[in-house]
Amino acid sequence: MAKGKKVRVEFRKNRGKPPRENDFTRHVGQVEADDAVSGERVRAKGDLSRQRTVTLDDPVDSTDFISGRVLRVFGLFSDVERDDGTILRCTVRRILKTMSLDERSAVTTGDRVKVRWDGKNEGVIEHVEPRRGILTRASRNREHILVANVDQLVVVVSLVDPALKVHLIDRYLASAEKGELKPILVLNKVDLTDPALVQPLVGAYSQLGIPTVLTSVPTGLGIDRLRNLLRNQTTVFSGQSGVGKSSLLNAVEPGLGRLVREVSDVTNKGQHTTTTAELIRLSFGGWVVDTPGVRQFQLWDTRPEEVEGYFREFRPFVTQCGFPDCSHTHESKCGVKSAVAKRLISDRRYYSYLGLFNGVTE
Ligand code: GDP
Ligand code: ZN
Repeated sequence: MAKGKKVRVEFRKNRGKPPRENDFTRHVGQVEADDAVSGERVRAKGDLSRQRTVTLDDPVDSTDFISGRVLRVFGLFSDVERDDGTILRCTVRRILKTMSLDERSAVTTGDRVKVRWDGKNEGVIEHVEPRRGILTRASRNREHILVANVDQLVVVVSLVDPALKVHLIDRYLASAEKGELKPILVLNKVDLTDPALVQPLVGAYSQLGIPTVLTSVPTGLGIDRLRNLLRNQTTVFSGQSGVGKSSLLNAVEPGLGRLVREVSDVTNKGQHTTTTAELIRLSFGGWVVDTPGVRQFQLWDTRPEEVEGYFREFRPFVTQCGFPDCSHTHESKCGVKSAVAKRLISDRRYYSYLGLFNGVTE
């Protein structure tokens, strides 16, 4: 082992949980919640990336390694895309597999890896870089990583057909905040309405620092801007069925909507599939995540007191609350409520907050 090659492997997953989850009373509720639901969620950046360094007894000169990104995993094989765009069919080095608590996540879609290359079109994954921005599927208190290294979440809503549900925007945006994914808001089908009517909404979200794009597939409005936002990023699209996600993807790049077989769909609750996620390469740089059969990013494992943290504009006001654990609901001296009264925080956002705080799911 003395001359061994260092490799980083994951700790057991439960080491990554925040300490407060060890609190017994919370834990009971948590188990229940995890059992009751099984779905996909965004997990905080870096949460699963704690690793330790181990040593392989079979040292390999790291100059033999090439770097790449895992596009998809199937059985014992993964397709790894090299930086030049070529794809290698790879196996995973045994030690990485045995070191991982959950074999399925020894290597996962989206991983950035180091591969020992055979000089042709095959290789062996020797090293997995620490993960950031992880989409997971939770099931019976176990968590499977679906995609690693996701940068941003595009929330698509349509202004008409289906009608705009503004509180859903805030729910999706809160999920992005929870997962530490950069949120982008797309308001689609603007050709079916008067753009002047939606300007206040665009202004409100832009003011929160959230890139907000008005789009129309038939007129092409906003498509260039959307394409620019996707460039060189790893992006997940989410939004209700029928809002135009596939159409937008096709507009951004022909054929993309078809490749991304089933984008996240809030109405698909309860669907299960074991199909793994894939990364779809954008010709202009970046990737779109295909997450088949997902349940939407709900705030499943969110405690009510966390919710305020996902409303970025509340932050300057919570310090003015009379109680450090103010819920901003019934308390008399509340910085958030007085900010709402002074119109420094919008009513609409405050009502969305109340809905999420009270665990309203629709
Ligand atoms: P998805 O379920 O979110 O992927 O939605 P689709 O892309 O399948 O679109 C649903 C319907 O909305 C289709 O009939 C599209 O042609 C239509 N659609 C999508 N985008 C627009 C748009 O910008 N304007 C109009 N008028 N219709 C659109
Ligand atoms: Zn308060």
